[in-house]
Amino acid sequence: MIRTIVILLACYLAWRLIRGYLRKKQPTRSMPEGPRGRIDDVMVKDPQCGTYVARRDGIVAKTPEGELVFCSPECRDKYLSEHGRSEG
Ligand SMILES: [Zn+2]
Repeated sequence: MIRTIVILLACYLAWRLIRGYLRKKQPTRSMPEGPRGRIDDVMVKDPQCGTYVARRDGIVAKTPEGELVFCSPECRDKYLSEHGRSEG
């Protein structure tokens, strides 16, 4: 009787571990929808300071020239203020 309970408990724990592992593997971060589909690990050049930054880690700003990716909000603000358009 006790053995059955122990086995059931072990199964339950294993199931929880597997579920947790599977859930971790799936990214829950929601990406903004775009016409080009999902882009995850594209390296983009920060037009302000020239640093390459992963698109999903960068600060995306919509400008009249298109979507630009910056390494930090500071760079984005600088770029937008230097280009005279800070709407958004
Ligand atoms: Zn930068």
